[in-house]
Amino acid sequence: MTPTPLTVAKLKEHPLPTPREGSKDDRGSALILGGSASVPGAALLASVAALRAGAGKLKIATAQSAAVGMALTVPEAMVVGLPETSDGGIDGERALECLRTAAEGCDALLVGPGLLGSKPTTAMAVELLHRLPTATFILDAAAICALASHADDVRRHKGRVVITPHAGEMAQLLDRSRDAVEADPLDAALTAADLLQVVVVMKGARTWIVDPQGARWLYEGGGVGLATSGSGDALAGIVVGLLARGVEPLSAALWGVYLHGEAGRRLAASVGPIGFLARELSGEVPRILHEAS
Ligand code: AMP
Ligand code: MG
Repeated sequence: MTPTPLTVAKLKEHPLPTPREGSKDDRGSALILGGSASVPGAALLASVAALRAGAGKLKIATAQSAAVGMALTVPEAMVVGLPETSDGGIDGERALECLRTAAEGCDALLVGPGLLGSKPTTAMAVELLHRLPTATFILDAAAICALASHADDVRRHKGRVVITPHAGEMAQLLDRSRDAVEADPLDAALTAADLLQVVVVMKGARTWIVDPQGARWLYEGGGVGLATSGSGDALAGIVVGLLARGVEPLSAALWGVYLHGEAGRRLAASVGPIGFLARELSGEVPRILHEAS
């Protein structure tokens, strides 16, 4: 099967809901579970991106010591501080009750940016999958690496999950070497999509998007400036923002990759090919969305 290049013309086959009227409730509620004492910024980047992609309401569940800073930096969000481990990560077991309450009524959840430890992070993600059977999910970073041992839990969510690994995370997920993933990223993406029955965004200089049936799209834009700290967190935030708006997982993944890449391309043109910041990507998104949809 040849891949479909991801272009604006192709995206028109996956139209987004038009915002016209309605309240913020009509554009959905997103929850971002991310950020630890030492890496709060990942959740912050994702949060701003989710709002820029049009999510109606946003909650951030993060490590207690990061919560006040987060609340002041993203005043648009409701912030829930969660109990911490001694290394500043979220204590999954003690956090569970708060998390269940925070997640109630959320339409879309992003789990992973800035969280520490793949096992505890995956355990929290799986608990939320059980808890919210009709919500859509994006699992990123530490939420991806240990998913193979919970494949049944993820499959039960019936294709309402997107994962966004880079080569290192995919290598851990499939127990392959990073070199092997980089040598054939499409095969890795197809294998993961089949194993978990999820939409896979296999990130890299070229990004593959694969659905559970094995259909595949290829995005080659964006430019090298996107290879910067926090870039993937911005992408994950865009995707959860679209999911909150009711966009189907595959469409949210395709649009997310395009919006993130096009934001990179525009910043490269205005700032220079490298040296723009991941935090600057989100600001480009509303205009690109408006022009493309
Ligand atoms: P992460 O590694 O999670 O921060 O994600 C990095 C993001 O930047 C992904 O969306 C990649 O697809 C993108 N990216 C990384 N390197 C390049 C590159 N050389 N050219 C274009 N996009 C890239
Ligand atoms: Mg990342």
